[in-house]
Amino acid sequence: MADEPNKNGPVPGARADIDPDFFDYRSLLDKDEQALLADLRAWLTEHLVPIVDDYWARAEFPHQLIPQLAPLDVMGLSLDLPGREPQRRLLSGFASLEFARIDSSFASFYGVHSGLAMGSIYQCGSDEQRDRWLPAMRRLEKIGAFGLTEPHGGSDVAGGLETTARRDGDEWVIDGAKRWIGNGTFADLIVTWAKDVTDGSDGGVRGFVVEKEMPGFSATKMENKMALRITQNADLTLDGVRVPEANRLQNANSFDDTNSILRATRGSVAWSSVGVMTAVYEVAVQYAKDRVQFGRPIGANQLIQDLLARILGNLTASLGMAVRGAQLQDDGVFHDEQGALAKSFCTSRLRECVAWAREILGGNGILLDYGIARHFNDAEALYSYEGTREINTLIVGRAITGLSAFT
Ligand code: FAD
Repeated sequence: MADEPNKNGPVPGARADIDPDFFDYRSLLDKDEQALLADLRAWLTEHLVPIVDDYWARAEFPHQLIPQLAPLDVMGLSLDLPGREPQRRLLSGFASLEFARIDSSFASFYGVHSGLAMGSIYQCGSDEQRDRWLPAMRRLEKIGAFGLTEPHGGSDVAGGLETTARRDGDEWVIDGAKRWIGNGTFADLIVTWAKDVTDGSDGGVRGFVVEKEMPGFSATKMENKMALRITQNADLTLDGVRVPEANRLQNANSFDDTNSILRATRGSVAWSSVGVMTAVYEVAVQYAKDRVQFGRPIGANQLIQDLLARILGNLTASLGMAVRGAQLQDDGVFHDEQGALAKSFCTSRLRECVAWAREILGGNGILLDYGIARHFNDAEALYSYEGTREINTLIVGRAITGLSAFT
């Protein structure tokens, strides 16, 4: 019997290449913003794409790329720094998306250096401190890290900081340990949060810029991670590190100040999630069109189309939340609970998307070579850092009910 014509073949006039930015949020960007993002995408495609899987497999960071990235001038984009107008959060958000579309570790490098470290100095530092550190950080001549989490303090770090700072004349003596600190093995400046134990102090949380050469400071790379393997997370030891008063962030007086940094950076983790969802969507669509089983592309099956539509739905909903969060930040009305919801919602949707994309690729979904496995693993880190889903949910739940469920 002659073969039936393939009823599942391409439909004339159907859109075969759906843009992952399905609701065209990029149209909110002006021409200059779009040009900067195009340059960033071109740079990442040329420099990072060819080497990223190899560096991930070896758990190494491609340090040689840092000076090459500097001329793009994308660090501290939303900050008011000399010689550049502060840019909209929409732009720095889309920049996070672009980094994460290629590699979440690079997005984390960007988030830690540009968001957490530069953001802390900008928000909590004096004018003199901003002038001293931020220009070199913008040029990537000095790399920043953010030291909050401790071996015994992750989720409850707000109330349980064990790292101490004691004032001694014009200096502070810092003792303690930090864990999981991104960029920690090579950062020049580590924004370090510690509890003030000076006699007569209020015991509040203070922020210090610890410089890597300071005696008593050491960093050890954390090994054997199965996610964000390119990110260099470190255990930090602070053993009687003497930090001048001039390195104490002059406007950081309590954990509320630390929290104001996290509020903004949780928004940027939402953007990174959308970047990874974009990456796996693009790979999964292409694979569904190319891979033939039972005599036709697997994308002609309803069950595969269902997964693709779910990924696109998650991506689109998350991008909408990220965009609106950025606009609220620009308007100065972004609240803790909005950052918490964006972070927990988008990373939860991300976890679904990487699993569905991996499913569409069958066995190839677990091979590094096919563009999903690395993102699949990295999503686990995005899900847990900057506050786990549970902790961000408790922040949202407290806002909903007015009742704190933190114990
Ligand atoms: P824990 O606090 O021990 O929590 C374990 C589990 O218990 C989680 O599921 C948590 O949600 C749950 N839990 C805890 N309390 C409650 C509760 N009351 N109700 C319900 N569930 C609860 N930190 C930095 O300071 N700087 C960095 O640069 C940095 N980078 C990181 C990079 C990576 C890849 C990772 C994995 C972490 C990084 N962190 C960093 C630390 C990160 O913020 C913490 O891992 C995170 O806050 C969770 O803390 P924890 O791992 O200690 O988990």
